[in-house]
Amino acid sequence: MLHKMGMALSSIARSFLPTHRAGEASRMWRGPTVWIAVGVFLACHALLPRLFPGHALLVSLCFLVLAPLMAGVACMRHGFASRVQGWWLLAAALTLWAGGMAVNVLALFALANASGETGVSMLLFVLYGVPIIFAIASPRDDAWPVRLVDALLALALGLLFFVHTFAFATMAGTDHAGEASLRLMFDIENLLVAIFALVRLGASRQGPERDFLRALSIYACIYMASAAYMNHMQFDTDYGGPVDLVIDLPFLVLMAVVLGGRQAGEKAGPGQNVGERLILAVSPLMLPAMLLAVSAALLASHPVWAVAGFAMATLVYGLRNVLAHLGNLEERDRLERLAQVDGLTGLPNRRCFDETLAREWARARRSGTGIALLMIDIDHFKLLNDGLGHPEGDRRLRDVARVLSGCTNRASDLVARYGGEEFVAILLGVNAIQAGQMAEIMRASVQRLGLPSPAPMGRVTISIGVGHAAQITDNHSDQLLAVADAALYEAKRDGRNAVRVQMRQEPLQGLG
Ligand code: GH3
Ligand code: MG
Ligand code: MG
Repeated sequence: MLHKMGMALSSIARSFLPTHRAGEASRMWRGPTVWIAVGVFLACHALLPRLFPGHALLVSLCFLVLAPLMAGVACMRHGFASRVQGWWLLAAALTLWAGGMAVNVLALFALANASGETGVSMLLFVLYGVPIIFAIASPRDDAWPVRLVDALLALALGLLFFVHTFAFATMAGTDHAGEASLRLMFDIENLLVAIFALVRLGASRQGPERDFLRALSIYACIYMASAAYMNHMQFDTDYGGPVDLVIDLPFLVLMAVVLGGRQAGEKAGPGQNVGERLILAVSPLMLPAMLLAVSAALLASHPVWAVAGFAMATLVYGLRNVLAHLGNLEERDRLERLAQVDGLTGLPNRRCFDETLAREWARARRSGTGIALLMIDIDHFKLLNDGLGHPEGDRRLRDVARVLSGCTNRASDLVARYGGEEFVAILLGVNAIQAGQMAEIMRASVQRLGLPSPAPMGRVTISIGVGHAAQITDNHSDQLLAVADAALYEAKRDGRNAVRVQMRQEPLQGLG
């Protein structure tokens, strides 16, 4: 029996190794093995205090320190693999809890404190909730300054918890009335953590984050039930008896869920729905809301702290909103820029071209200057794709794009990818001859590059149709596109690797 327990405990220890053996160990832990280990741990916790009745209290408390520590190490190990920060925060919370229990052990055996309860251990038990609330409330996709502000709010919450705890406890422990307040505070904290975790799980979509929130929700619900049972049904019972096993349960179940390796997976369905977006948007409000609640509880006993808590909750949350809004504006600009760029070549895309043409057309109409459109098409590109393959075709597209944009030298000129192997350029304030010259420079530059191609010329060449409008009196920029297209058709028909220029027929004045 003892040999089997030893084997199970040593495999628990091996599974915590954060090395390449971790994967091997976690495979071993899938399935019922992990639950057998949990059973063995509980059996040891039940039996050993009975085997050593003289040291039952010490032995039992050691198990109560060990259980959260083991769960904490399992979370930390999972944090390494999944890179979800919440695992680290949960590990920190479990360490605080284990620290609280370890202080109890110290108080009992080193300081000969009869009850074993001290203000320090109570404080650690209260602070245990802070990293968990931070993990649930602060969305991990937010920028680091925003998360820093969330961390500040979480720390303020911890500080006020501290003040609140010592409103009815001293470093030596609490009286009976204090215990009742403490129990209520734990109940509220545990209930909120469980509800928040479940709500966040409902709104989460990414697999690794769902794994964390699923484990946290299971743990938080069991912890809430176990703490409520211990605090309300057993609060007169001393440590050291079989009821201590109830305290082990949430930690052991968490460890089993973490090591068990069953994954929650990605949430099915297209994108976030309104409810999920709302929960993610509202979740950062948990921190100031809890800060306000604790401040309100402090109003009678510590009005200065309470006012400081109110001020912190409103001002720091305001700062958070400003930072988050700045981040959103930056993100919007980034997406707008991205929506204007062609992903393959990095040139402005068709959308950007359409918008620029409409804008410059109106400007040219007001100022009475000329405008030229260059339709640029790579010759025999299909042969190139068929002969050298699509990826090589993509490389040629990028090369041609680079050469074309290098040919223009005025800030007002625009070279864009029109689609497929076609590019387009807008030249402002030029006459037809100048536009033709620019087109010729582009054609010659691409030819000079000498990119090998299975086309008849043996190298990549382009044909360009130039459409020019000298005097604009109408809104029909699409007509100029048609003119440039017709010129391009002429260049192709005349043998390719050529430039053709056509003028737009000016509409009669007053009919635009
Ligand atoms: P022409 O000289 O008459 O212009 O002949 P072409 O072969 O260039 O003309 P066509 O329009 O028949 O062929 C264009 C080819 O461009 C067909 C398509 O597979 C290829 N293409 C379009 N977009 C891309 C792309 O993004 N990457 C690659 N590699 N090929 C593309
Ligand atoms: Mg084409
Ligand atoms: Mg072509």
